Amino acid sequence: MLYVLTAAFLVFFAGRYLTPGSWELPWWVTAKLPQQLDIWGWQVPDNILAGLRGTDEFLRRQADGLRRGWQSFTGQGLEIAGVKFWKNTGGGGSMPLPEAGQLTVDFLDVGQGDCALIQVDGHAMLFDCGPDDTGTYVQNYLQKQGIDTLDYVIGSHPDEDHIGGMDVVVSKFDCGTILMPETEKDGKSARDAELAMNYRGYQAVAPWPGQVYELGDAFFTVLGPVSYYENDTNNNSIAVRLVYGSVSFLFTGDAEKEEEADLAAEGLELKSDVYQVGHHGSSTASSWEFLREVSPAYAVISCGAENRYGHPHEEVLERLAAVGSAVYRTDRQGTVRAVSDGESIRWSTER
Ligand SMILES: [Zn+2]
Repeated sequence: MLYVLTAAFLVFFAGRYLTPGSWELPWWVTAKLPQQLDIWGWQVPDNILAGLRGTDEFLRRQADGLRRGWQSFTGQGLEIAGVKFWKNTGGGGSMPLPEAGQLTVDFLDVGQGDCALIQVDGHAMLFDCGPDDTGTYVQNYLQKQGIDTLDYVIGSHPDEDHIGGMDVVVSKFDCGTILMPETEKDGKSARDAELAMNYRGYQAVAPWPGQVYELGDAFFTVLGPVSYYENDTNNNSIAVRLVYGSVSFLFTGDAEKEEEADLAAEGLELKSDVYQVGHHGSSTASSWEFLREVSPAYAVISCGAENRYGHPHEEVLERLAAVGSAVYRTDRQGTVRAVSDGESIRWSTER
């Protein structure tokens, strides 16, 4: 007990009085510090590395937590003096490694939020990164899948439930192209994501409809946003249609019926085998007209159990049933996985 108290006091003291910058290591040491450091399976938090590096704005901002004093124990990790310690074996799901010659799409159970991992022949991309408190969960999941590079990271729109985990993803993985829409980004999550991108020297680009990106033997077409909506991040969501052989997946972020109408009017192919249900199954999205165009055989709803918005809404479940979609839900089934050989789709769920 005495040891614990002494250790706690030392950490508290260090957090209180040592400010980053005052204990910087020489550049030839900091240059050798890895992006991520594990000691006995525990991650050295970014903000401790920040103190050691003392140079990067992103890390320095995170280091503010060091001075906040003793905080709390959390379910997923240990938080001392504003510094989160994560056990690297905690969380991250349990899906097997993907097989060669197949497309694997995982709809991660990130609670009330979106995060889809797409893998094909050693290539990987992320459509949304989950909320703030699941960044490390997503990181662990990706690491368990053997991923160190993401060809693409898409932040559909800068809301916390989609890009909260983006700072972790961007700072821990090598990223190829980062896509984000042109829209207001004044939330904390958006700032954190931007700082993390600066830290890694990345810049997000805004795609336009009709653009095609290759992912191994698969490709995706950008469908939207088509128009710009002021003070409305949802309707500026990036929407993409992923194609592998003859199977297709549609992702629309939190696009509402207005953007759905734009997508339909734009005339690009919408018909898809799998539809990640827009805006977590909100009745403001997945309009009749749009659903009939997409006509998905399968629908995946990513939402938190007993979330405060009541997602998915009954009307949407009825509409999905009416167009004949089989529905998967992360709130009930955990992480949902679709595997395809380019002709058919096999499904598995975490529970
Ligand atoms: Zn959302």
